[in-house]
Order: sequence, then structure tokens, then C-alpha cells
Amino acid sequence: MMIQFENVSKKYPDGTYATHSLNFTIQEGEFFVLIGPSGCGKTTTLKLINRLIDLTDGTIFFNEKKISEYDIHELRWNIGYVLQQIALFPHMTIEENIAVVPELKKWSRDKIRSRVDELLEMVGLDPDTYRDRKPSELSGGQQQRVGVVRALAADPQIILMDEPFSALDPISREKIQNDLIDLQKRIKKTIVFVTHDMQEALKLGDRICLMNEGEIVQIDTPEVMIEKPVNQFAEEFIGNGATQMIGMAKVEKIAQKHVEGIENISGMTAISAETPIIDVLSLLANEEMIAVEKNGAAIGVVTREAALQFISENMSERRV
Ligand code: ADP
Repeated sequence: MMIQFENVSKKYPDGTYATHSLNFTIQEGEFFVLIGPSGCGKTTTLKLINRLIDLTDGTIFFNEKKISEYDIHELRWNIGYVLQQIALFPHMTIEENIAVVPELKKWSRDKIRSRVDELLEMVGLDPDTYRDRKPSELSGGQQQRVGVVRALAADPQIILMDEPFSALDPISREKIQNDLIDLQKRIKKTIVFVTHDMQEALKLGDRICLMNEGEIVQIDTPEVMIEKPVNQFAEEFIGNGATQMIGMAKVEKIAQKHVEGIENISGMTAISAETPIIDVLSLLANEEMIAVEKNGAAIGVVTREAALQFISENMSERRV
């Protein structure tokens, strides 16, 4: 595993316990979402990982080695960090902003230049247009894209993201979430992502860790979180009633209809077009795609991503 928490507690000097004896592991390449109401300890948990906050009790391992045993620079350079506030340096160009850690690592100018171009292209910003601009000459959404790729610049093994999109308007937010999903498919980084928005968590997470009052309530995949909340708190936080209702929509709604392009549709598990989306989710835990049939003929396929996206998009926003 990549990160392991063993009985990790953090007590602030004023006596507040921000986290109590946390135990969990994060696998390599996993998109791990920390969620819970304000003050439940999400940010503290995140900052314990890169030692922005020192733990009081317990141990955190990164690649099997205690984080306390790493040289602090070595640790931080290996862990990208994206904040909520767009934290670009205002007097530096976009290129200079992205190049901060590569420069600290003493990469050559050529290597830095080509890395900056590659990263800007990854998030749909034309390097020739944007490289030499100042942050103030970009929109909020574009600045946060730069914030995301800056965290990737020196190819860290983990990226920590603390409510990175919460200051953005809903349209920019949705776009950058989709970009992050695409990006993650290509780069397969270990990402630890803090949010208080269940929609965002369902959309992005491989697993979701729900916290309350400094403790872990439930860690599960989005599907299990929706279908089997462990207690009333989890159920209310996830908005189970609402989610179930949305999940009752028929799978026909989200079937992708370009059947011709999809190989081996006859070999797939098939379900009726009338099946509720919520019931399809559990089947999709084991299979990548399921065929959707109507009147005995395949009319399309459904994927896990499409089902979760539908549920996430149709949930009313929950901000706690
Ligand atoms: P979240 O990110 O879930 O909103 P935090 O990790 O920021 O929660 O905070 C968890 C708890 O620790 C809260 O009760 C908060 O008030 C407290 N806390 C956070 N930072 C400090 C600090 N520097 N000193 C004292 N208490 C703090």
C-alpha cells in the first residue's frame, strides 16, 4: 500500500482532538476522498500526510517507511498539494509557477520547458498562449487548472487536494472535475481529495472515507456507500433517500446507444432497459460494462462511470 495510518491522533495545543485513532490504508493509484461535515478533521488528516501538521500519537507510513523518518524536503517534493484558494504566485508567469518544484529539484531548462508545455496541454491550455501570462490574466477555472498541474509538475507519487474546486462556479467546477477524471485515467496517481460535497465525492472517488468528529464512520466504494450506509449519520450525509429515488430511474436513460462500436456485446451480462439504475450499480462492481436489452435486442451498454455520473448530477447539492 501507499499510505497507511495506524492509530493516528492529532491533539491541538488547546486540547482539541481533531482526529482520534485513525486506521486506514490508501492503495497505489487510488482516488481516495475524505468527506464529512465542517470540523470533522478532513484537512487535519490531509496535512498530517505531508507533515504540514505533526501527529500526536500513532504512525503514518508512506511506501512502508514512517513519514517521520523522511527528510522533509524529500517528502514534500514527493507529495503534490492543491489548495482551495488559488494559490499561484501573482508576480510570476504561469510557466514559472508550474516550474517551482522542478527548479528546486534542479531540472534542466529544457526539461522544465517541455514538462510545462506537456502539463498545460493536458488540461487544455495552449502553451504558446498561456505560458508567459500572469495568473491575473486567467479565469478562476483556468487558474485552478494551473494549480492542479503545478502539483503534478515534478511527478510526485501522491497528490493531496484540499477542496480544490469549491471556490469555482458550478460550470467551471464540473468541467475541471471531468478533466481530473480524464487526467487520472492517464496518470493513475494516488490522490487524496478533501471535499464536503457528496456529489463530488461520488463522481470522483474510487473509495470514499466518511468522517465525523475526528473519527472514521465508513470507508467504501461509492456504490456501497449509496447502497449500504453503516448508520443513520452515513445515511443522512449521503442523502440516501434522495439517492435511492434518483437511482430508481430506468437504466435505459443512461444506456450508450452506439452498439455497433462495441465489441462482444453478446458476451456481456444483459439486463432489461427497465431495471433501476441503483440495481445496476451492484452488478457493475464486478463488470466493466453491461448490455441493456429491450424487446430481446441490445439497445446499448451501461458503465459504472455513467451510472455514478447520473446519480451525482441529479443529486441536490449537499453542503453541510
Ligand atoms: P475539516 O477540514 O473537516 O473542516 P479540520 O481538520 O480543519 O476539519 O478541523 C478539525 C477540528 O480541529 C475542528 O474542531 C477544528 O476546530 C480543530 N482545529 C483545526 N485547526 C486547529 C488549530 N490550529 N488549533 C486548534 N484547533 C484546531
